[in-house]
Amino acid sequence: PRHLCPFCYETDLSWVLSSGRGVLHSYAVQRLGPPSGFEDDLPYAVGVVKLDDGVQLLGRLWPDPDGEWSGYSCDGRVEFHGADAVEIGRRPVPWFRRAG
Ligand SMILES: [Zn+2]
Repeated sequence: PRHLCPFCYETDLSWVLSSGRGVLHSYAVQRLGPPSGFEDDLPYAVGVVKLDDGVQLLGRLWPDPDGEWSGYSCDGRVEFHGADAVEIGRRPVPWFRRAG
């Protein structure tokens, strides 16, 4: 979220509902040397998602059923798939999974 429009500097902004669908622009799987506080999350993946609605954001990526992210690819389709309330309370970030 922004506090003003980066183009016209309007500050009277509002929330817009997103489809939650988009493409994975880039991603990385963290296996070693996590930032402080993320040691227990290893391995994990983060990616930049370009939503179909025209914005992009950073989010966590759900692993595939085998526990890896080998099915993900840049420009592959992803969709919002939130984590449970405990995880969201711990780290309030959007989660995405692969979409067909
Ligand atoms: Zn504007």
